[in-house]
Amino acid sequence: MTVKNVLFVASEASPLVKVGGLADVVGALPGALKNLAVDARILIPKYGTIPNDHLSNLQSLLRAVVDWQGRKISVELFVSALPGTDTILYLLDAPEFFADGGVYYEHDEKNGARLAMERFVFFSWAVAHIIPKLPWQPDLIHCHDWHTAAIPAFLSMIEERAQPTVLTIHNIEGQGKWTPDDVFGWLNVQGKNVPPLHFRDQSGNLNLLQLGIRNASVVNTVSPTYAHEILTSAYGLGLESDLGQRSGGVSGIVNGIDYQAFNPAADATIFAKYDATTAAVGKVANKRALLAELELESSGGPLFVAVGRFTGQKGVDLIPDSLSDIVQAGGRVVLLGSGVPQVEQAIAAAVAPFPKYCRVIVKFDAKLAQRMYAAADFFLMPSRFEPCGLGQLIAMRYGALPIVRDTGGLHDTVHDLRRRGGGTGLVFGPATAVALQTAVSDALRIFNQPDTMKAARQRAMDQDFSWSRSAQDYLNLYTNAK
Ligand code: ADP
Repeated sequence: MTVKNVLFVASEASPLVKVGGLADVVGALPGALKNLAVDARILIPKYGTIPNDHLSNLQSLLRAVVDWQGRKISVELFVSALPGTDTILYLLDAPEFFADGGVYYEHDEKNGARLAMERFVFFSWAVAHIIPKLPWQPDLIHCHDWHTAAIPAFLSMIEERAQPTVLTIHNIEGQGKWTPDDVFGWLNVQGKNVPPLHFRDQSGNLNLLQLGIRNASVVNTVSPTYAHEILTSAYGLGLESDLGQRSGGVSGIVNGIDYQAFNPAADATIFAKYDATTAAVGKVANKRALLAELELESSGGPLFVAVGRFTGQKGVDLIPDSLSDIVQAGGRVVLLGSGVPQVEQAIAAAVAPFPKYCRVIVKFDAKLAQRMYAAADFFLMPSRFEPCGLGQLIAMRYGALPIVRDTGGLHDTVHDLRRRGGGTGLVFGPATAVALQTAVSDALRIFNQPDTMKAARQRAMDQDFSWSRSAQDYLNLYTNAK
């Protein structure tokens, strides 16, 4: 099939609304596809949290009425461009569903799960009704994660000859599960009469990600290793057999990063710009500036950083046992992230004994993250599982050597420099503090071998994780979707 027009439907798109790596992918891949003559456009909800300065050029494109629990909900579709790009952006407005609660109602412990479920079932249902009305018709719909995974099922309920669909699983941990009767009540359908909705997960719930896996024309994920892992019970989180039964299998395409936004040679947010040839000097200047900014004692030793969500997935709880080894070797540690309050508190407590040498910053701060990538010698990413991971890709682009666990996209993108033939970081096996400690102590040793360090940094910076390669892989995937 020739694919010219693709509609991305997602819950996040950078720079408009970003919670995690999903936003980076949705924000960047359409632009890379444009270079391959694909007109890729984006459709997300018009959240109340989108900053006003991003909403100045909106034009109303169409209105529609959606049946919901027996009520008529009117929705409006606006069109604009994704800020800083010429990618066309559609925003679906339905204030009752999108005005409050951030993106995922993450701060509403009591009702957040139900509200998020209702929000994204509504969004997917409304999108399925709106697609046939668009003046510009997509050849294919590209859905992302559980939030939009029901669209293939919903589209097939509405249109006899619906477009092919691709579902990309960015993280199988989020599935969108709810009682079937509630969902059927919202949609005002008799579930038993609708074959695309006949699936239930192991807990008997209607599971939006499962619906996507069962109904999408093509399913893929964001690295080849994660594509294998999620076929097993250890990583598939109950959906392994649904995935295993797909006749076309599940492929993996590693994400890219935006090489314009993440470019140490042109990055206005960092203290000193540098490229692969000037990295040694440039990184020392950035390190000195960052330590001063954070009021940490200066040092000629290595700087270890981590940037990411503070959750069980990311394995940040494995880091504290390595702190005293790093500090004793004259190293420094800076950790940036937010997430589960218990993990945030545990990390803060572990760092507290080292006020002059280690710092944890609990917030989301993209600019500080960039200054950290630029300053770091090593980037810690001890994830228990990692579908792709962007942190390690950005780190390599900035010449910080990743220290990663051997899983998912980390396995596919970081090569161990302790093996013969060179490498770009350090890779360790078991998800234990001891295994990380061993990798860290090797990193401390390697830091004192300037030639090894320089060569590894050069190799890391020479890697190509731009979007152009992945975009070509996606185009091949689209072409095979039926
Ligand atoms: P995730 O599982 O959260 O999607 P990824 O590694 O794929 O993890 O992507 C995370 C992205 O968000 C990276 O670009 C990372 O630098 C950024 N990020 C995560 N947490 C923070 C934070 N607290 N401040 C700034 N940037 C962050």
